[in-house]
Amino acid sequence: MNTTPSFPIALVGAGPGDPELLTVKALKRLQAADVVLVDDLVDARVLALLAPHCRVLKVGKRGGCVSTEQRFIHELMIREARSGARVVRLKGGDPFVFGRGGEEVDALRAAGLEVEIVNGLTAGLAGPASIGIPVTDRRCTPGVALVTGHSAEGSGDGGRAPDWAALARSGLTLVIYMGVARCADIVAQLRAAGMRGDMPAAVISAAHTERQREALTTLDELVETIRAQGLGSPAILVIGEVVDLAAVVPRQIVGEAQAFG
Ligand code: SAH
Repeated sequence: MNTTPSFPIALVGAGPGDPELLTVKALKRLQAADVVLVDDLVDARVLALLAPHCRVLKVGKRGGCVSTEQRFIHELMIREARSGARVVRLKGGDPFVFGRGGEEVDALRAAGLEVEIVNGLTAGLAGPASIGIPVTDRRCTPGVALVTGHSAEGSGDGGRAPDWAALARSGLTLVIYMGVARCADIVAQLRAAGMRGDMPAAVISAAHTERQREALTTLDELVETIRAQGLGSPAILVIGEVVDLAAVVPRQIVGEAQAFG
């Protein structure tokens, strides 16, 4: 029987991998959940924190028709919430950063359901930080742009491709999600817009997971570095002078307490 749900559906960010990067609120919602709808990118160590009775529904989008599946996910969440279950929609990173969080919130609100947003640490910030890249360091840049490398005219994903020429001129650090497959095209567009070939660049693959690998390189060498080192998806590309600061913070001390005095 359908009831009015007593709990809002929680749209929760799982962070990039390491469960210690969950927010306290995310952990509380996960531990209280009766059912969790989870994407491909969520780390198994995060799922291990769920209560024993909690059902896990894997609704990743690998393969299949994206729009149909998205509608199916909405319907599943609505059905579970109306049956009285505490529902968590768990997404890798942050649900509102390339996570379709906005679309899911719209669908749930249109169905008359309440939604609570619990941010997660997005891969585009946590990945660079894991190798000591301060993405907005004021000595190098006035800011950072988080952009998709995936969307392209006619790609049918409903997204819009970034204006690479404008970004090349902006002086912003570029943090590119979903950029590995189209990297050669992105580099060509940045170079055509005048970005220098020796601009520092980094690739961080599977950041904060047990499979993390990274490389520091330059814009001109980026494609070959990814190929030669087999740095696969999921990966974040970082392009900008801030990448040169990576070496000054060795990875093993990131996150450790620093004593004063
Ligand atoms: N909502 C997510 C992003 C989802 S889009 C977030 O906020 O992090 C999927 C893309 O995110 C991947 O193609 C990759 O570019 C990036 N990504 C997600 N998890 C990652 C990880 N652990 N390491 C590196 N990149 C990751």
